[in-house]
Amino acid sequence: MGVLDIVPAGVLTGENVRKLFNYAREQKVPVNVTSSSTANAVLEAARDIKAPIILQVSQGGSAFFAGKGIANDKQQASILGAVAAAHHIRTVAKAYGVPVVLHSDHCAEKLLPWFDGMLAADEAYFKEHQEPLFSSHMLDLSEEPKEKNIATCVEYFKRMAPLGLWLEMEIGITGGEEDGVDNTGVDNAALYTQPEDVYDVYKALNPISPNFSIAAAFGNVHGVYKPGNVKLQPQLLGAHQAYTCEKLGGQPAQPLYLVFHGGSGSTKEEIQTAVENGVVKMNVDTDTQFTYLTGIRDYILKKKDYLLSQVGNPEGADKPNKKFYDPRVWVREGEKTMAARVKEACKDLGNVGQCLSLRRYIIR
Ligand SMILES: [Zn+2]
Repeated sequence: MGVLDIVPAGVLTGENVRKLFNYAREQKVPVNVTSSSTANAVLEAARDIKAPIILQVSQGGSAFFAGKGIANDKQQASILGAVAAAHHIRTVAKAYGVPVVLHSDHCAEKLLPWFDGMLAADEAYFKEHQEPLFSSHMLDLSEEPKEKNIATCVEYFKRMAPLGLWLEMEIGITGGEEDGVDNTGVDNAALYTQPEDVYDVYKALNPISPNFSIAAAFGNVHGVYKPGNVKLQPQLLGAHQAYTCEKLGGQPAQPLYLVFHGGSGSTKEEIQTAVENGVVKMNVDTDTQFTYLTGIRDYILKKKDYLLSQVGNPEGADKPNKKFYDPRVWVREGEKTMAARVKEACKDLGNVGQCLSLRRYIIR
């Protein structure tokens, strides 16, 4: 049985998101997308290796999707860009034949107007299509006091659950710097979440809906850095599962859906331990950003003499260069190298061939 026997191809919402996460509790790799080009590259990679995939937009990535020329003082560009990205992905996803989870990344308290705008778009879409526009959103109030963090999540989750939206929340802090949020200076102790705190989240959210996941910090850092003082401790996730399991009377063994932020640069062993401890989603952004560049960079360096003027190259002073500077040629090189990196991340996570379906072969 393949994953396509459980959920359809295209953007998933509601119970289908949970079915996908339950499906062998395999990790699914979300990749940050900032344009239709990066979104298509990720979908192409997922199709080639028959893997379900999560596409997510950050607040800054959303604004970029709308266009940097639009003001964003009230999050208007981030709202428009997230909605535009969602519609683009919804329009093309089915053609790639893989299940897609459409997610928005970290939303800190000061960015809540962005969240409100996306949620309004979900509610409007729901009225027409009986499902939300997105599959899932992340609220990240991890910098706020715990009580306020959880209370804010509860308030939003009550609005989200009836639409069939998944909620990802963060407790404990992901270190490093990403998208303008700088946690490079926080106390190391805050980078490791306590099992009691994770259980408090479970207790508050589970009565509303089971469709939520927790980004508990275990020494995660956004970005790729030289090894420093912060050590990744994915075995701590096992302690969270055990603590909540005990509080629930010993069943089920892994009650929590956990999320791994800052996956770029992690070792295969660290990833494996995280998977064993119930991680259903690992974020990779820094590495795919770099690989999107490498294809374009190498093309420009290799074809430099064909790119200095519109006419005239080493083959002759009157030779045209249009076929070398056409953006579809050099942007495509970035898509190819980015897609290769996405495939590699999926392979590290065992997320390959999941969409192969026996039933579909028989029908054929
Ligand atoms: Zn993150």
